[in-house]
Amino acid sequence: HDKMKEDQLAKQDLDHLWHAMHKYNPDAPPMIAAHGQGAWFTDTEGNEYMDGVSGLWCLNLGHGQTEITEAAKKQMDTLAYFPLTFSHQPAIELATKLSELLGGGYRTFFSNGGSDANETAFKIARQYHKQTGNPDKYKFISRYRAYHGTTMGAMSATAQAQRRVKYDPGVPGFMHVPPPYAYRSTFENPEKDDEMAANFLEQIIIWEGEDTVAGFIMEPYISGGGVIKPQSDHYLKRVREICDKYNVLLIIDEVVSGLGRTGQLFGYMHADGVQPDMVTMAKGLTSGYLPLGATSIKNEIYEAFKNDSGDHHFRHVSTYGGHPAACAVALKNIEILERENIVGRVARLEQKILTQLKELEYNPYVGEVRDIGFLYGIELVRDKTTKEPVSDAYLGSILGACKERGLILGKNGDTVPQLANVLIIAPPLTSTEDDLQFLVDTVKEVLNSSQY
Ligand code: PMP
Repeated sequence: HDKMKEDQLAKQDLDHLWHAMHKYNPDAPPMIAAHGQGAWFTDTEGNEYMDGVSGLWCLNLGHGQTEITEAAKKQMDTLAYFPLTFSHQPAIELATKLSELLGGGYRTFFSNGGSDANETAFKIARQYHKQTGNPDKYKFISRYRAYHGTTMGAMSATAQAQRRVKYDPGVPGFMHVPPPYAYRSTFENPEKDDEMAANFLEQIIIWEGEDTVAGFIMEPYISGGGVIKPQSDHYLKRVREICDKYNVLLIIDEVVSGLGRTGQLFGYMHADGVQPDMVTMAKGLTSGYLPLGATSIKNEIYEAFKNDSGDHHFRHVSTYGGHPAACAVALKNIEILERENIVGRVARLEQKILTQLKELEYNPYVGEVRDIGFLYGIELVRDKTTKEPVSDAYLGSILGACKERGLILGKNGDTVPQLANVLIIAPPLTSTEDDLQFLVDTVKEVLNSSQY
């Protein structure tokens, strides 16, 4: 590597780039990545790291998938850009493929990323209710701890503290319920946490007025918010029943969980027989190679938009939504997922990693180790009885020690220190078994030798 070039880049970075989720700190410039291969990348100083969070849990197939980059180039050479106010082959083929993967009967609206896909879902839900005789149904319910995106609507559904602390008021009509979270149950009987959380949702719908609630949005498993899952998949079945009972559309945010991360093609598929009204996707849809968002909608809902007697069309567009190259990349990504049986691989290796990480529950600062496929959360507490969260500084020291050993990990994304105490591990689904062992060994070594 070139030391002068490297210093120049670092200086320009400091002077011109505004980083996501980062304090300005001239003494600790962010790492500048140079190139990647598989689950690993090299920074401009020549240091090698395993990416234990797949970028932002999106780089599911890892770096260096030349079939994907070739598909993008081929598409750009053929038809560089075309809007979806008209049509093009990659979007048609991808929408068809997504419907097939979702079990049939879906049509897809394309956008640019996860926030965008959720905004699209909210607008479809409101318009759907207006066009089907329920003009007062405009509210959305989501869950505390959830992350749904960064734009005003998606942020309003995001029930994490940065919204309240920094950007409120959000969009009117968004409310929140507790997720099932047995380790820190909101309810008196943690054994019945799932059931109580679902009952709470029903209560809120009744209190708010069933004629006012348009939709309920949830990740099948809370990912960025701390890897939180119900005790059983019965929770989602109950949620489906409740949504059906009150004509509330069930929007499943599969931005992280979709396309294999959880050891099923989609996270909601862990619960037998549940069909969402809408499924939103991004990240793993293209494995991060190009930006793309998708909102797949059940055909029954689309019926309300077909009627041409009134002004029933969906007045919503984004210039780059469903970009031909991004759709071509998604198609290739799905082809590789299927061909290599990546979903089966995750399901097969998940338990092996979990068993080893679970041993960390003997560590005095590890409250609970949770997993959902290749998404692991290690909840760190200062005291196992009170469950007092560890300090931000401690969590930072763990992340720093892992980095020194060549492993990048993440943490749950809340700005209030008492809520940010979960280490997040989400390696590329194609990580080799040696990579995964390195990851497990490093995390264990760092946690077991840490001083509070
Ligand atoms: N939903 C979930 C569950 C997410 O984790 C994210 C991104 N972290 C989003 C939506 C928003 O996606 P994007 O950053 O592509 O807008």
